[in-house]
Amino acid sequence: MKFQKDFDVIVVGGGHAGTEAALAAARTGAQTLLLSQNIETLGQMSCNPAIGGIGKGHLVKEVDALGGIMAQAIDKGGIQFRILNASKGPAVRATRAQADRMLYKQAVRTALENQPNLALFQQTVSDLLVEGDRVVGVKTLMGLEFNARAVVLTAGTFLGGRIHIGLENYSGGRAGDAASIALADRLRELPFRVGRLKTGTPARIDGRTIDYGKLQEQHGDTPLPVFSFMGSREQHPRQICCHITRTNAETHDIIRSGLDRSPMYSGIIEGVGPRYCPSIEDKVVRFAERDSHQIFVEPEGLTTNEVYPNGISTSLPFDIQYRFIRTMLGFENAEIIRPGYAIEYDFFDPRDLKTSLETKHMNGLFFAGQINGTTGYEEAAAQGLIAGLNAARLAQGLESWCPGREEAYIGVMIDDLITRGTSEPYRMFTSRAEYRLQLREDNADLRLTEQGRALGLVDDARWRRFEEKREAITNLQGKLAKKWIRAETDEAALAEQLWGKKLLKEASLMEMLRRPEVDVDNLLRFSDEAEVDEQVAEQVAIQAKYAGYIDRQQTEINRTQRYEHLKLPDNVDYSLVSGLSNEVSEKLKRQRPETLGQASRIPGITPAAISLLLVHLKKKS
Ligand code: FAD
Repeated sequence: MKFQKDFDVIVVGGGHAGTEAALAAARTGAQTLLLSQNIETLGQMSCNPAIGGIGKGHLVKEVDALGGIMAQAIDKGGIQFRILNASKGPAVRATRAQADRMLYKQAVRTALENQPNLALFQQTVSDLLVEGDRVVGVKTLMGLEFNARAVVLTAGTFLGGRIHIGLENYSGGRAGDAASIALADRLRELPFRVGRLKTGTPARIDGRTIDYGKLQEQHGDTPLPVFSFMGSREQHPRQICCHITRTNAETHDIIRSGLDRSPMYSGIIEGVGPRYCPSIEDKVVRFAERDSHQIFVEPEGLTTNEVYPNGISTSLPFDIQYRFIRTMLGFENAEIIRPGYAIEYDFFDPRDLKTSLETKHMNGLFFAGQINGTTGYEEAAAQGLIAGLNAARLAQGLESWCPGREEAYIGVMIDDLITRGTSEPYRMFTSRAEYRLQLREDNADLRLTEQGRALGLVDDARWRRFEEKREAITNLQGKLAKKWIRAETDEAALAEQLWGKKLLKEASLMEMLRRPEVDVDNLLRFSDEAEVDEQVAEQVAIQAKYAGYIDRQQTEINRTQRYEHLKLPDNVDYSLVSGLSNEVSEKLKRQRPETLGQASRIPGITPAAISLLLVHLKKKS
């Protein structure tokens, strides 16, 4: 049976990748359908109730700068906000917020339901409709067929998902949801390289059985951080406190006693897990010399007693989970509401993707999120936005777009994935970016919103707010450059009192701002600006203080850009490049990089090989 209407874009899966993909496609004007197994779980957080963190917060701000929903949803659903690395340089500062799961999910759902050009439909997709080498739609479990010019697949941990608790295991997409088996089988028939990865989650605890009096408190920041460039503190719900406890020697003994029934250590799980987010049994084995690990006790929301103990993700048998949890301070009488578990699932080698996130083997089919070997809501959301945008652009007959490594963490992540692939769940870190002084959270809008507007992703309200901010920054910079403080004046005396250094000769406020000891809030007391927006003041200060470093990095970027974006024609015959070894030419043939920059980052491709390729291309042209 065929559905009554055709679409430009169908997005399969309503997790973090799928919801951003659907919203992005629809924002550009494409007629879009979001098909998900269960409408109730749109925007659901499968694991920890938190958004952001180092590297991840950067992605969220970039998604926001391009009109995405994640930052706005967490502003409405965040119950504790913090700036991590606050004392370090602005490049590595990152926002993190604890979420009320229900409020977060509700905010995402409301955005989806109110997005023009977007339809929602609840069904499980079981098959792809294919004509020749292109996808033309999908088929669902009830036999309903939907046609579209492009399909974005964002099935998360659901493809061939298998849940493990101790030596028991069963099929599942995540706790409480069915796995996608038919679709996984179908995808395995296609020429994609498939692998297995795994991830895990801790048991959830009934907060009424925790003795909070014994735990260390952890409060959010004041002033309260805001995630979205369109957000405000007033949108945040009631803020609450988190807590910290620790594992101890007894906890570790109990964990060790259960290792023989661990699916990981008994070899039942084949998939590789996230190295930077290991299970507690993994930590106990790998860091045997440590007799304690910190556990963050995070509330799951304002209207539930459920608690997420961050740091004890496990797939040990239930009896071991129950016992080791009760050894921790404050958890002596803890009752489990949901057991911890690990999940193994199919992922596809991202080297089979183009920069647009369209697959190389099937035209019109895009992959985004966990199925590309990444882990995390933020990584998924960022890919979803790019895949949704490019699916829409393909349907509209337009060129695809993806930011470069020098423009955004989104660009770094996609470039890493498609050039190097991944053998373990990939998560974002600031250390992955070579130009991280440029790629700060605070300037994500200045880097991307103008481009987002040109792509049709940014609505009028966001554009107006952005233009006002950009203008205010220029105005303030102009005013600070014009206002001078002369030595031996009352103002100079005040400056000395504030910052502890004598003003020896006259200086403009802009020059003074470059000094490390001078803070912008006090500096503004010398200008006649009535009220300056916090974001504007922060931006002017960062640009002034880091101008030298930022300029140097920009020079470096300009130097490398010439070859970085040099397009490699689709039909390059690598076997004809003289001097190139068979191994290298085979590698390039298999991976078909789109630019010289991408080719240079494929493992095993040497600078000498790139020079040979460049000579070949020059001869050809
Ligand atoms: P998901 O959020 O999984 O969404 C997939 C969506 O697709 C769901 O809505 C599902 O219903 C739908 N769907 C699936 N198949 C079909 C189909 N055939 N038809 C229609 N709809 C379909 N991340 C971390 O960063 N750290 C962690 O420690 C961590 N631990 C995790 C532990 C567990 C047990 C799980 C399940 C996940 C964990 N994650 C963790 C990963 C995090 O949940 C994902 O990275 C993130 O949710 C990925 O987003 P996504 O949109 O790709 O997929």
